[in-house]
Amino acid sequence: MGERLEYAHSTMRLTLRMAIITSNPRPSCDLCGSVGKVVQTGITDPDGNLVGTWSFQRCSNPGCGVCWLDPAPPPDELWKAYATYHTHTRKPGSRIAKATLSFAHRLIKLGLLPLWVSTGLKREADYLRYMTLNSEPAGKLLDVGCGGGRLLKRMKKCGWQVEGTDFDAQATQRVTARYGIRTHVGDLPQCQLPANSFDAITMSQTIEHLYDPAATLHECLRILKPGGLLVMTTPNVDSLGANEFGAFWRGWEAPRHLHLFSVESLRRLTQQAGFEVIEARTYSAGAAVVYRVSRTNQRARKLSWPDELGLLFWGYRKEWHEYRTQKSHPQSGQNVLIRARKLSL
Ligand SMILES: [Zn+2]
Repeated sequence: MGERLEYAHSTMRLTLRMAIITSNPRPSCDLCGSVGKVVQTGITDPDGNLVGTWSFQRCSNPGCGVCWLDPAPPPDELWKAYATYHTHTRKPGSRIAKATLSFAHRLIKLGLLPLWVSTGLKREADYLRYMTLNSEPAGKLLDVGCGGGRLLKRMKKCGWQVEGTDFDAQATQRVTARYGIRTHVGDLPQCQLPANSFDAITMSQTIEHLYDPAATLHECLRILKPGGLLVMTTPNVDSLGANEFGAFWRGWEAPRHLHLFSVESLRRLTQQAGFEVIEARTYSAGAAVVYRVSRTNQRARKLSWPDELGLLFWGYRKEWHEYRTQKSHPQSGQNVLIRARKLSL
């Protein structure tokens, strides 16, 4: 898939504004073959670049429960969905307006810091910032879906020996050029990395983009050293945000998200791949931005300055509310976190 997904240069991006992408029906679960139930319809491309609406179905097999995009683009057209993705384009708007809003954002965050620290949200954010690896001994790390390489850069500073994979050749070239980090292009099984070679593998907001998440998990197991750690985060299909915003929830991210998970469905899939799951839960750190973008999608108009500022406060308030709600409803956080080990022989 990697070569087909060598993304467009800027002129092609322009021609892809409001592009048409083929969508093929997916009537049954491609992980277990069972039929499903539609859980959301009427989802549009949140970036507004692709024509069409999409749905998600949830597998009715109680031993699976994975959600899948229906219909979905064929692999040879998926590049269209990424040609205008936020990792490839800059947001519109003047530099001054963006810089002023960014400054206001920093001030708001600073003002909220005492609350953030006292409630425990900061501790959780720090834990996720290092994909839970800050208390692990540094070793050899692979980040699958490394994007712009921010996590790899951070972990390298902490003494880890890092490598990354991504199916976006532009992204991997940039990471190597900027940070001197070794990268591989393509889906993980295509990269053919040596067996038993990594102490840890991270997949931050990656597994939902894959056509075959089970194959990738099996490959993670193969290339991890015995006792090695796999850490994954992904949007939680059972989150408060998904319930509140329906088709406008940013987590659907159609047609780029091909599968979505709850804590239980991802825990099961990870166990079925042969891992021992040591932590499986939801979390709210960083949820503010998802709330803000979902709300913006819902309003479907350009926001004024005061609107944008109001949304910043509102997003943090929602994140805090969600964090507190998890005390009574632990499965309601914005994202799923799974930590799993490859059993030692
Ligand atoms: Zn299934």
